[in-house]
Amino acid sequence: NDSNIDEWSDADEDELAKIDFFDNGCELSKFSLECDKLLSAEGTPLQRYRPKYLIVSDFVQQYWCEQQLLYRLSPEAYLLNVSPGVDVSIEESAESKEVKERGSDVHLARELEIQVPVEVEVITKEDAWAVKFLNIQTMILAFTKGHRVAREVPVFGVPFGSGFFVYGIIDELQYNPDLHTVEILELKTRKSCYPPRKSQQDKDAFQVGLYAEMFNDLVRGMVTREMVENHLKLTLDTPLSGGIQRHIHQQNKKVKMKIFTCGDILDMVLSQMQSFTCITKGTVEYVHQESRKQISTFPMTLDQEKLRSLFLKQCEWWRGERGTVGVDVEDCWKCSYCQFAPFCEWRAVKAAESKH
Ligand code: SF4
Repeated sequence: NDSNIDEWSDADEDELAKIDFFDNGCELSKFSLECDKLLSAEGTPLQRYRPKYLIVSDFVQQYWCEQQLLYRLSPEAYLLNVSPGVDVSIEESAESKEVKERGSDVHLARELEIQVPVEVEVITKEDAWAVKFLNIQTMILAFTKGHRVAREVPVFGVPFGSGFFVYGIIDELQYNPDLHTVEILELKTRKSCYPPRKSQQDKDAFQVGLYAEMFNDLVRGMVTREMVENHLKLTLDTPLSGGIQRHIHQQNKKVKMKIFTCGDILDMVLSQMQSFTCITKGTVEYVHQESRKQISTFPMTLDQEKLRSLFLKQCEWWRGERGTVGVDVEDCWKCSYCQFAPFCEWRAVKAAESKH
């Protein structure tokens, strides 16, 4: 599930940044927080929470606040700071759920404008991954036939040689057949009818950059069958189940008698992607949830080196090579909108530090 985190805050970030709860956002040393000590005994975050693969949203949430990501993944981490006998509920509010549902509705409506989802029965994990690969193939075929837009396009790979297998779904790709160029567009819906501030734009730009990098790795032939097989532990040469076989044969009427495996579909997609072209431009579009009117668009530059540095820093945390870090002082306004703020260890430590 590669969900969108579209709505963080409509607050005036400059005003909220005046909230003074710590002086600076220096990094703590390895496993120095109590939550890190507790959890390190059970393995690294990667081993505990994402032993097979990560999703792009993991990194996007981490970009926003690593401490918050840890609390989302691990309730025992924030319960450390709750006094005995205090009953804690961090269930998502009805308002927050509604905002997410409205966001999903806008995304679905966009998708249905250009494509009709087809139900395919999946039984095995190989079937499920074959469907993801087929969805990439659908995008390639659509562009080959002259379509200029594809939506909800999966991407996968091992970005920046990190050793982490990552999966995500791109909102929209736009193909110009005359110039043979591909651009990426990320749709973000907002409860507010005003554009987001810089912090949110930076987070969204990071997300777009990561999608583009993964897509481009597929085009460059840097994603291999062995990577997929080893990370996902798929049996690539076993025939797919009946439902998906029928679907593939309906799509490819010329192919008769062949029994497809997940490896067949993967090989086709990896090969077809290499004849494609890399993404060169990205845009984030902000849409008002209620009116569904566009609020603003934000063209962004794909800065591979900056992205690499940020991404590899994030990987250090997943490998347990450093402790968890909360928000920097200039971003402490985010805590005002965080459900974990009353029990947040990072916040408490920084508040204590600021008094000395
Ligand atoms: Fe992060 Fe602030 Fe929430 Fe703590 S209170 S998890 S530092 S956003």
